[in-house]
Amino acid sequence: MFEKILVANRGEIAVRIIRACKELNIRTVAVYSEVDANSMHVQLADEAICIGKAAASESYLRIDRLISAAEVTDVDAIHPGYGFLSENAHFAEVCESCNIRFIGPSARAMNALSDKAVSRALAKKAGVDTPPGSEGIVENEKDAREIAKRIGYPVMIKAVAGGGGRGMRVAHNDASLIKGYHTARTEAEKSFGNSNVYIEKFIENPHHIEIQILGDNKGRIIHLGERDCSIQRRNQKLIEESPSPLLENKFRKLRDKIGKAAVRIAEAARYTNAGTVEFIVDDHGNFYFLEVNKRIQVEHPVTEEVTGIDLVRQQILIASGEPLQISQGDVQFKGHAIECRINAEDPFGDFRPSPGRIEMYYQPGGRNVRVDTHAYAGYTIPPTYDSMIGKLIVTGKDRREAIDRMNRALGEFMITGVKTTMVFQQAIMQDPNFRRGVYSTNFVEQLLGGARRELIEEKT
Ligand code: ADP
Ligand code: ADP
Ligand code: MG
Repeated sequence: MFEKILVANRGEIAVRIIRACKELNIRTVAVYSEVDANSMHVQLADEAICIGKAAASESYLRIDRLISAAEVTDVDAIHPGYGFLSENAHFAEVCESCNIRFIGPSARAMNALSDKAVSRALAKKAGVDTPPGSEGIVENEKDAREIAKRIGYPVMIKAVAGGGGRGMRVAHNDASLIKGYHTARTEAEKSFGNSNVYIEKFIENPHHIEIQILGDNKGRIIHLGERDCSIQRRNQKLIEESPSPLLENKFRKLRDKIGKAAVRIAEAARYTNAGTVEFIVDDHGNFYFLEVNKRIQVEHPVTEEVTGIDLVRQQILIASGEPLQISQGDVQFKGHAIECRINAEDPFGDFRPSPGRIEMYYQPGGRNVRVDTHAYAGYTIPPTYDSMIGKLIVTGKDRREAIDRMNRALGEFMITGVKTTMVFQQAIMQDPNFRRGVYSTNFVEQLLGGARRELIEEKT
């Protein structure tokens, strides 16, 4: 087993990884940018090294500085967390060539799923449907028009390197297609340094359902069931839950099929370590592959709570060469878990980021309440990174109990000094359609667009 791990990340996920290391008696090294000197992960790690200025391109994305920090502190492995360099095959290769284990999929598996267009092709080969669309990258306006004509509007233009809901546009006609083609490319170039886009059919009112995968270095791959992440704003998840109400109520036979499809895709990529295979499911129970997230995911605690399996611990064990001790048959699901991503954003001001100093901070407790965060009273949220300040996860014996507990816990959570999304999430917990489990990825937009908007605004 490793003796020391460097955590190449910040925020709540760095804290989460340090916790897993401590429970395995592994020492930890934090890295931080100048603006993160007072961040919680720096306090909790055994050692900490400043790697540069606030901008990620000057710190958390600097492979040379991370490797120097790893060499100076003599670590055995690096955990990349999510975002930043977590899905960068080149970084994984550099680590391995320096004799530092990369805690994530092998560079080979990452290359097999290098971008979304490549992954689509791999899924098709594995016999899993993808939304109808282009074969690979769309090179020009003319090809874009031809593909849209073939598959029919509406279509989605998507960055092959996309993530975090960025670099995608919906088009309903030729004019919006051409506009969307260029804006998606520009946004993708800016966000990911890669302007390539592809086109796929826009599935209306879909459900986002994803499968957690674990694979060891001996070729064994299992799945840990699904998460429903359909509560999204601008294609970014706000609330996640497991099990999915859609698979519990409407399409009971689908769970097994989607789970098996996810494992087939992982097997085709010879996937190792933790990963997530994302799908969208339409109203008729058709499901389509979207992408593989080749890393630990933000919403992983939901799966941990219903399966009792510590995913970050599993990542470390797998990377150290241990065979998986859990077989598919061992995976048991118990109760219901829900997570809210608490963002420092103004729900009454178009969800604009609200960085700044947290004045008062009191987090909820009681039975079956978990908070994963790096925030504390007096902590200043820098404007430099994404606006998530923590995650509130609750479990209940069933969905109703979990919703009521989340509603209670959100009401108890006190953060002053910055605006947060909590009041909006509490309104969702009280929404009759959400409570019935009847929702698609349009839910938030409908809630914000209609009479409900007043209802939410009235309360504050
Ligand atoms: P999840 O799939 O885990 O729900 P998100 O899509 O919300 O993840 O992204 C998690 C974090 O990683 C966010 O901070 C997001 O900005 C970042 N991220 C995801 N994909 C990329 C990418 N391709 N490039 C840069 N950052 C990314
Ligand atoms: P990201 O890398 O940003 O996570 P994804 O491809 O996973 O991008 O898509 C993010 C979200 O965008 C999905 O959860 C879904 O809500 C929406 N989306 C993506 N592709 C489609 C599609 N073809 N039809 C409808 N919605 C889509
Ligand atoms: Mg995604």
